[in-house]
Amino acid sequence: MTTHDDHSHLSDVELRVRSLESLLTEKGLVDPATLDAIVDRYENKVGPRNGSRVVARAWVDPDFKKRLLEDASAAIDSLGYTSTQGVDMRVLENTARIHNVTVCTLCSCYPWAVLGLPPAWYKSFPYRSRVVKDPRGVLREFGLDLGSDIEVRVWDSTAELRYIVLPERPEGTQGLSESELADLVTRNSMIGTEKAASPQNGDS
Ligand code: FE
Repeated sequence: MTTHDDHSHLSDVELRVRSLESLLTEKGLVDPATLDAIVDRYENKVGPRNGSRVVARAWVDPDFKKRLLEDASAAIDSLGYTSTQGVDMRVLENTARIHNVTVCTLCSCYPWAVLGLPPAWYKSFPYRSRVVKDPRGVLREFGLDLGSDIEVRVWDSTAELRYIVLPERPEGTQGLSESELADLVTRNSMIGTEKAASPQNGDS
């Protein structure tokens, strides 16, 4: 029997990592707060940076954007992020009428090559189960209240096919350089649980 309180859904690797972490912590060899800080850095900053660059390029280069939407793996590889090998990638474009959000309902399939480590909530049972049934409600909890005129599409990732969302380019960003634009592209905006940041609040 599997409930979300036990750990039977964890892979062998995850179980080993957890055991190692407990052991190292017990022996006083690592500080769990430091570990959390490292993981947080990879989840939020280092990891998603490749994805942010892909999105910024698509915002400034219509030809690249076209190739990205047609064959995401090839377009991403052309920027030098070749670790997509073996996994098909698809890019989902958000528009004024369509909002895309991604999930892996079975486990935690995630576009590692461009987004790094998945956040804990992405792997959680509540997100995986609820975002399919009530995407608008879940997005509201992330602070994204979408009007009824916007169609919400939920995409279920698999081991073979992973998605990244191409968020809309924020308004007021005409004068920004490609790297300044990349700073506006948050991890969550590429999962689809928020929009890209505006330059005013400059949150990256
Ligand atoms: Fe999965």
